[in-house]
Amino acid sequence: MIVLLRAGAGAEAARAVEAELARAGAGARRVTGGERLAVETAGPHAPLDDDARARLAALDGVEALLDAPDPNPRVRAARGPVEIASPRGPFAVGAGELTFAFGPCAVDDERELWLAAAAARAAGARLLRGGAFKPRTSPYAFQGHGAAALKALRRAADAHGLAVVSEATSEAALDAVAAECELVQLGARSMACTPLLRAAARAGRPLLLKRGFGATVDEWLAAAEYLLDGGAPGVILCERGIRTFEPGTRATLDVGGLALARLRTALPIFADPSHAAGTRALVAPLALAAAAAGADGLIVECAADAGRARSDGPQALALDELAPLARAAAAVARAARKEFEVCSRPWQIQSTPRSSASPR
Ligand code: PEP
Ligand code: MN
Repeated sequence: MIVLLRAGAGAEAARAVEAELARAGAGARRVTGGERLAVETAGPHAPLDDDARARLAALDGVEALLDAPDPNPRVRAARGPVEIASPRGPFAVGAGELTFAFGPCAVDDERELWLAAAAARAAGARLLRGGAFKPRTSPYAFQGHGAAALKALRRAADAHGLAVVSEATSEAALDAVAAECELVQLGARSMACTPLLRAAARAGRPLLLKRGFGATVDEWLAAAEYLLDGGAPGVILCERGIRTFEPGTRATLDVGGLALARLRTALPIFADPSHAAGTRALVAPLALAAAAAGADGLIVECAADAGRARSDGPQALALDELAPLARAAAAVARAARKEFEVCSRPWQIQSTPRSSASPR
């Protein structure tokens, strides 16, 4: 349910609504829309009875109670960071610090993979990314080295104390990917493939769910609902750009969609600036925009020798660009979180009292 406040009704009215919702056993989170503030019920709770509804409706500043059916209750109720195993022990994604996943688009030359892993580690990354099963648009393009690439990723990641994230493009690939990778990626092209989502949910690994490039935020969250409903031990969303009419970028990184998703769910959200940019020079600006918009992590492609890369060379960062990017993104994220509560997670919004200086 959403309690819509009248234009001009301020924080005090919202606090009274929150207190009333708490009395009725429901969590609450504030939503801003245009000039009006609204308070949305959060977390699992019993339907509000008539008395509670009447008390809410009678509060100063309340304009309407909107009953919205919740199509994604598990996505909405999800709480807490996602824990990922790694050779150096488990770490948390979505706990405040940005998480970085760096590595090549596709695994090819093993020596270059090790150079990428070393640079990723030196830049503070927790995860080594790399495609083994590649979802390519053309059937004639390099499709990845499959299981052999997963083993190579594992060796490079173990040697450098990193966890691995790699994509499973099919149900047939799931077991192999889940065996070698601490985080299993479901790609943009697979987001709407519900049998794969259901199978991935049972793979026993946390999942990184890319947003389809033609999917709305609600469709993306509904895909995450499949994963949580199927028992996935953790789900991280990833905005990677949507298709718009702009031909100068490969896709349009939807930072607005990322911020919107942040209002709807406490699941961690990554951004992938590489596949949105399509070209190296645009990766850093998009990464910083995503960090400012509240991303919990960045997955970025890099290459020891982009000229030799068999996929996505033009968007691969050089290895010496990773550390400055990570430093800048972490600084932007810290600044955004300090000054704007809107970048915080929904449950932190409730527990962090707004300072009078913070803008709205
Ligand atoms: C990738 O990250 O390797 C990839 C193919 O991304 P997407 O599914 O977002 O296109
Ligand atoms: Mn790629």
